[in-house]
Amino acid sequence: MLAFFAPIALSIISCREKPADSEKSGIAISFDDHFINDWYALRPLFQKYDAKVTFFLTCPDTLTPDEIIKIKQLQKDGHEIGFHGTIHGNATEMLKSHGPEKYIETELKPGLKHLAQIGIKPTSYAHPGGNHTDEADSILLANGFKILRDVAQAERELFGIPVYHLAPRIMRWIYYPFNKKRIVDALMIDEGTNISENEIKEALKRAKETNTAVMLFGHQPLYEKPKNGQYGFSVAFLETILKEAKSQNLKFYTMSELQDSK
Ligand SMILES: [Zn+2]
Repeated sequence: MLAFFAPIALSIISCREKPADSEKSGIAISFDDHFINDWYALRPLFQKYDAKVTFFLTCPDTLTPDEIIKIKQLQKDGHEIGFHGTIHGNATEMLKSHGPEKYIETELKPGLKHLAQIGIKPTSYAHPGGNHTDEADSILLANGFKILRDVAQAERELFGIPVYHLAPRIMRWIYYPFNKKRIVDALMIDEGTNISENEIKEALKRAKETNTAVMLFGHQPLYEKPKNGQYGFSVAFLETILKEAKSQNLKFYTMSELQDSK
């Protein structure tokens, strides 16, 4: 009996293991700065959609004991803790005025030391303010970061007037093609970027169709319109994205996983 069924069982296994064309398609969402309590409050939402994301943390020297517990819990949940600078400085200006050594001593080493003390060794970096140069990139890549994330925007304004608005679906550079690229752009989804639900769903569809991962990022989770200088994204909009990602069967990637993936 066993001998009779064995070939059938094998063929079922090999069918399952054969990668489909869209097998790697996915989504990589990240969050910047230091909104640890607000990020932590998103845990039920992430759990609801089995989502894994990356938190790019800045100013780790100011972490309170409570924030350390929360950031460690987020890491334990499967999320990645990336680095976003010790002082959230402007890399171009720092390198120009003080040179590479001072840049490393000021922006990289102290924050990384604080993180190492709590057992976190980041392998991904998001440029503070999306500001960087080739020199900054090569310093970061030489200092243990496997992937560097820059900022892409669908809309730009000049004196309050929109200069352009791009549909995320056509922004080729926000899709990771799994080619080991180490310098990448993620689309900002904060309030004010005026990305519609339909546009973001189309972007997720493109990731599926092209077997790529769409990269998105935001700052503070907001439940109402931003006030008093707040900058962040609508939690309802995030849920639309997570729900759509799950229904399209997109894989959730952390930023370092993009680079790790073969
Ligand atoms: Zn930032």
